Amino acid sequence: MLTGKVALVTGAGRGIGRQIALTLAEYGADVIVNYNGSREKAEEVVREIEGMGRKAVAVQCTVADFEACGKMIDEMLAEFGHIDILVNNAGITKDNLMIKMSEADFDAVIDTNLKGTFHTMKHMYRPFLKQKAGRIINLSSVTGILGNAGQANYAASKAGVIGLTKSVAKELAGRNITVNAVAPGYIDTDMTQAMTDSAKEAVLSQIPLKRAGTPKDIAETVAFLASDKASYITGQVISVDGGMAI
Ligand code: NDP
Repeated sequence: MLTGKVALVTGAGRGIGRQIALTLAEYGADVIVNYNGSREKAEEVVREIEGMGRKAVAVQCTVADFEACGKMIDEMLAEFGHIDILVNNAGITKDNLMIKMSEADFDAVIDTNLKGTFHTMKHMYRPFLKQKAGRIINLSSVTGILGNAGQANYAASKAGVIGLTKSVAKELAGRNITVNAVAPGYIDTDMTQAMTDSAKEAVLSQIPLKRAGTPKDIAETVAFLASDKASYITGQVISVDGGMAI
């Protein structure tokens, strides 16, 4: 389904990003495994992908740094010749009620989740135009759709990702480049492990399908959007949340 394609996945050393990288490789893509702090985990992902007979490289870069994203993309274009699929998965939370939320915590979440998505999209814009093809898949969140008390910074960043996705989808629609967002609900990863047991129970009780999602649930949706099967889908936000946003 993705043979001959090269995918760049941000934050691919662990969690949902790791599973996206592995799943895209299972479908035949070569994968650029971006990480920020998790070097060893990213190198493990590279070894797993190489074990499938695909090419993979781990590359350190914080997506919050515009220049560093440009350097990473230039280096990877030189190494792989082309990048066909960009998955903006890197994300952080710094939760607090607004009354206790510092400006630094607001900025950090916006810089990684929203500006990070802009940074890589901006640096891939011309290469995608030149190739007359491309797929961009951005990770939003159910929180960006519904809002959530204690997550004003995160909700703003993920709602921003939706606006960014729809706008750039309109810009690039005439060029055979699709831009979509995936909005996960509650997925079992390090990010949700940080929640208290009572917070986890409260979220689980709001999921119509009565279970937490898995990274694979998200990765399969991303792989579909990256494939030719989704060539007529752009500017959409696909909720993969067990029905949370109904
Ligand atoms: P995790 O906390 O498990 O992993 C976060 C990932 O993001 C890590 O790979 C981390 O890399 C990377 N990352 C963080 N900051 C940066 C940065 N500045 N530059 C590059 N990479 C960075 O999160 P999940 O896997 O759960 O989440 C993945 C995405 O899905 C996020 O965008 C998140 O907001 C979204 N999401 C998750 C949900 C969930 O329930 N888990 C629900 C809705 C959305 P490293 O370890 O190398 O620092």
